[in-house]
Amino acid sequence: MLLYTHASCLAHDAGPGHPESPSRLHAVLEALSSDRFSALDRIEAPRVSREQLARVHASGLIDEVFTSAPQDGYVRLDPDTAMSAHSLEAAQRAAGAVCAAVDALIDGKCARAFCAVRPPGHHATRDTAMGFCLFNNVAVGAAHALARGIERVAIVDFDVHHGNGTQDIFWNDPRVLYASTHQWPLYPGTGRPEETGAGNIVNVPLARGAAGAEFRAAFNGIILPRLRAFAPQLLLISAGFDAHRLDPLADLNLVADDYAWATRELVAVAHDTADGRVISSLEGGYSLQALRESVAAHVNALLD
Ligand SMILES: [Zn+2]
Repeated sequence: MLLYTHASCLAHDAGPGHPESPSRLHAVLEALSSDRFSALDRIEAPRVSREQLARVHASGLIDEVFTSAPQDGYVRLDPDTAMSAHSLEAAQRAAGAVCAAVDALIDGKCARAFCAVRPPGHHATRDTAMGFCLFNNVAVGAAHALARGIERVAIVDFDVHHGNGTQDIFWNDPRVLYASTHQWPLYPGTGRPEETGAGNIVNVPLARGAAGAEFRAAFNGIILPRLRAFAPQLLLISAGFDAHRLDPLADLNLVADDYAWATRELVAVAHDTADGRVISSLEGGYSLQALRESVAAHVNALLD
């Protein structure tokens, strides 16, 4: 299994006191440094190309991200989303990681990859950076897979927030199934079950306080059957861990074992339809303890 990351993703700084902090990725990498993960093949994430970005992002957004990063201090792209000196490279490496993983899996080098990157991506729409996200890493990767000849890509997003950006980008694209569990109502406000795109969008909102039983019921009752019916040739995971009970930004009550369970179920689908190919990319998760436990459980389940 491949592990993509880059030092610039640790250097991206969204401002003092910002919850999307470098310490998040330090915690993730620390969790993956234990002996049980010694078999991970650690790879430096390359920069995404402009051509890869342009498949899903408007040139205006690409130009904005390329030109906004200041030498010193911070520049805000929206009330929650800021860039500093290393942010452009971090955004390029984060999206580049998913594209490189797509290439590695399509070329048969491996069946599974985890991208330990930041900034996250799933709130970035075709033309707007928002919600801590600059480029939509997973969407850029999905579009790269389509460009490489994959016919059906599924994206499962279990971050506690709805991936409005991913939904926006693939709203009219039946080659991509986007399936999300998320707390609702919550930022960014999208993600109702009625939002179905071209029949390729599956939103399963969870009420405040929902725990593992409701999460697993959403997977067993809706997400997994839709996924099996779609029969993806590649499965991407928008892996946010902010539905954990310790997370300070939301009010769901998942534990690490729920992430392990969901990951095993997704790997099982991938084995049946996608030659086992799964790429997971870090999205949110703002409790360092929850991140350590949940990422370890998630990556361990990807390894099995
Ligand atoms: Zn989130």
